[in-house]
Amino acid sequence: MEFAARVGSVQPSVTLAITAKAKAMKADGVDVCSFTAGEPDFDTPIHIREAAKQALDQGKTRYGPAAGEPKLREAIAARLQQDDDLCYGPENIIVTNGGKHSLFNLMLAMIQEGDEVIIPAPYWVSYPEMVKLAGGTPVIVPTDTSTGLRITPEALQQAITPRTKLFVLNSPANPTGMVYTPEEIRALAKVVDDHDIWVVSDEIYSKILYDGATHLSIGAVSPAAFSRTIISSGFAKAYAMTGWRIGFLAGPAELIKTAATIQGHSTSNVCTFAQYGAIAACEGPQDCVQEMVSAFAERRRFLLDAIASIPGLSCPTPNGAFYSFLNISKTGLTSLEFCDQLLEEQQVAVIPGGAFGADDHVRISYATDLATLKTGFDRIAAFVASR
Ligand code: GLU
Repeated sequence: MEFAARVGSVQPSVTLAITAKAKAMKADGVDVCSFTAGEPDFDTPIHIREAAKQALDQGKTRYGPAAGEPKLREAIAARLQQDDDLCYGPENIIVTNGGKHSLFNLMLAMIQEGDEVIIPAPYWVSYPEMVKLAGGTPVIVPTDTSTGLRITPEALQQAITPRTKLFVLNSPANPTGMVYTPEEIRALAKVVDDHDIWVVSDEIYSKILYDGATHLSIGAVSPAAFSRTIISSGFAKAYAMTGWRIGFLAGPAELIKTAATIQGHSTSNVCTFAQYGAIAACEGPQDCVQEMVSAFAERRRFLLDAIASIPGLSCPTPNGAFYSFLNISKTGLTSLEFCDQLLEEQQVAVIPGGAFGADDHVRISYATDLATLKTGFDRIAAFVASR
């Protein structure tokens, strides 16, 4: 079969592929320690599950508006106002099938042949592929540890050309766990403003912060920044709702309308009764989020000590999300070799940094229990020592 040219250069999602491989090995009885997908190991909080069950029993099982249940669009707008100082109405929100889908809708709505999209590396695996699928050109801007794996205003400015349409900002970041400081966000906002480009701020990890780190949404910097910002986020990470597939895009009403038209011809509405769970997530008590973040913080502490104790491995201290990005250059292996051999020899699954534009790193997700982390790190230490 001859496939469309647009899929020719697009790679499958490595995060999903390796996660599935590790799950299949486990199902076959292999004792795998999996640090692959960014998927909290907690159950979705009870009040959210109850709300979805109740909606199911109340017959919320039919088609709904493509852009989402009006009550959920309102509840998301209210939460963005309260948590992030972002002033949106329901007409500025579309409910999508997860954060990934919201970004995909955005790229389809906004990007066309000839448009350049600036993506700092390391980047989440799907950003460049989505840009390519939409017909645009990803412009990858490498970063290094001298700037904490974060793009500087100067580097952003240098990457901007007359074709630049969009800048993808992700803080806290996947795969590095790095968090931009409010000063850094303000400086980036100024470049966006000066050059009249758009920024999509992927804020899916904004509630998962450690050691006093704070999240400033670029859209909250100034009215000028707000007018150039699109927010992508969702419920998966903060509320342990990965399988529910509920995300959202927030931005100018005409963009949201266009995204809803795309969604109306592709997926229609997100599962109706699941949206009632998301309403409960927005409107219910938020201590469940803090409880999960406290558990992640304990695991992060363990992990940072474990990494420091293994000669040959290092990682910049992550202040958000639940990833650490290990520098493996001293092992002399490529990230794919490291991951393949580690899985084969020690049954530990991690994601190769090559998928995120950094081949001398691997990503560890520590959204898993402490016992698995302990066993896994004993095995990683043995693996590195044998190299
Ligand atoms: N965003 C998560 C991760 O990076 C989920 C996997 C995916 O959707 O790629 O692990």
